[in-house]
Amino acid sequence: MRHIAIIGSGPAGCYLADHLLRLAPDAHIDVLERLPVPFGLVRYGVAPDHQGTKAVVRVLDRVLGRERVGFFGNLEIGRDVRLDELRSLYDAVVLATGAPRDRRLGIPGEDLPGVVGSGAFVGWYNGHPDHAPPPLRSVRSAVVVGNGNVAIDVARILAKSPAEMAGSDLAPQVLELLAAQPIETIHVVGRRGPAEAKFTQHELAELGALARARPRVADPSAIAGDTPIVEVLRGFAADTREAPVTIVFHFGLVPAAFLGSDGLEGVRFARADGSAQEIAAQLAVTCIGYQSVACCSAAPVAGVFPNRDGRIDEGLYVTGWAKRGPSGTIPTNRTEAQQVAQKIAAEALDHGRPGGEGLAALLAARGVRRVDHASWRRIDAAEQAGAAGDRCRRKFDTVAAMLEAIDLPR
Ligand SMILES: Cc1cc2nc3c(=O)[nH]c(=O)nc-3n(C[C@H](O)[C@H](O)[C@H](O)COP(=O)(O)OP(=O)(O)OC[C@H]3O[C@@H](n4cnc5c(N)ncnc54)[C@H](O)[C@@H]3O)c2cc1C
Repeated sequence: MRHIAIIGSGPAGCYLADHLLRLAPDAHIDVLERLPVPFGLVRYGVAPDHQGTKAVVRVLDRVLGRERVGFFGNLEIGRDVRLDELRSLYDAVVLATGAPRDRRLGIPGEDLPGVVGSGAFVGWYNGHPDHAPPPLRSVRSAVVVGNGNVAIDVARILAKSPAEMAGSDLAPQVLELLAAQPIETIHVVGRRGPAEAKFTQHELAELGALARARPRVADPSAIAGDTPIVEVLRGFAADTREAPVTIVFHFGLVPAAFLGSDGLEGVRFARADGSAQEIAAQLAVTCIGYQSVACCSAAPVAGVFPNRDGRIDEGLYVTGWAKRGPSGTIPTNRTEAQQVAQKIAAEALDHGRPGGEGLAALLAARGVRRVDHASWRRIDAAEQAGAAGDRCRRKFDTVAAMLEAIDLPR
């Protein structure tokens, strides 16, 4: 029997395990995850009010529950086990570790309190244990830098009324902090024109149907072209309803500096003609992409792990955002994982290695507490049972609380 370890239980790792089950019927697959809970950005990136999208976890969870699949949660490669140790235990090891680091703009003032990357901001409102609340202090105006769907998510979460969060898994303490902000204006700013924006039509149009917010376009005369996105923006520009919160779309503005002394006070942008524009803001969220980080001894170059069709080295592979960078949707990871699975199924040799049994013995010797699939399901059940009022889940937002829920000491 061949033994394959996949590092990371996001969509890329789970879809890869699913394809390998079919393409390598002689293989046992272990999915290793640094957190006690699986599913990566489906749990911690996809917006809490988009439960329909998050429902893909049911598909991914079925994979983790399959007979030839083992789940090792609460196991970080690089902290608990080294990559070379893993490679000596398994016939193939796959990095499906995503791209967790926020790209930076590299402009003055980026470290001011009030300037936050979307990974950190989205991680916070989704209850990720690594992300503390941002320093929100009386935010009346927010700037969201970026023209993709993450920027739309951030603008929508800032704009929605508490009642519009019904059915979500937004935590009460997150809602409390958001609801305490006297927010009036959310500026969504892109460096290129409306026709180049990377929003999808459905996500953009959703902003036109919010209860207390109204989208508009800063310069309607600049809306050129006939893409579906441009049509939605024309609709926003023609909408004259008044609302307590305004979402303003700006185009052709390049971020130049975050302004302020001990906290953010505004953002300066440069226009193509060389002139400058300043927008007052107490919060700025940069939604400009993500980069992979090193996984133990494997280091990314320019934000991804260099590979040839998913192969990094003999017996070492990569898939998902760690392979191609932060692009595409959840199904993109499924298509890509199929190609990587074909390659692994064809190339990986049976070396008679111990696989998960050897890993379990190593972890026991080191006192590392594995969260297996049954234990994850108990955390899942406890979170759903703990949901109050109109929420669908109350997430544990620390690793200690997750482990406590299954009586595992940290
Ligand atoms: C804010 C946001 C919103 C999004 N919304 C949508 C949406 O609505 N619809 C859609 O289709 N797509 C959406 N996406 C894109 C989608 O989430 C990604 O395509 C997908 O999650 C990438 O999968 P991945 O498995 O490569 O990475 P990830 O989902 O990031 O999974 C990587 C996993 O690896 C684990 N890991 C990392 N390092 C280690 C280590 N050393 N040891 C063990 N485990 C490790 C991480 O904890 C994580 O669980 C969104 C993305 C973001 C950022």
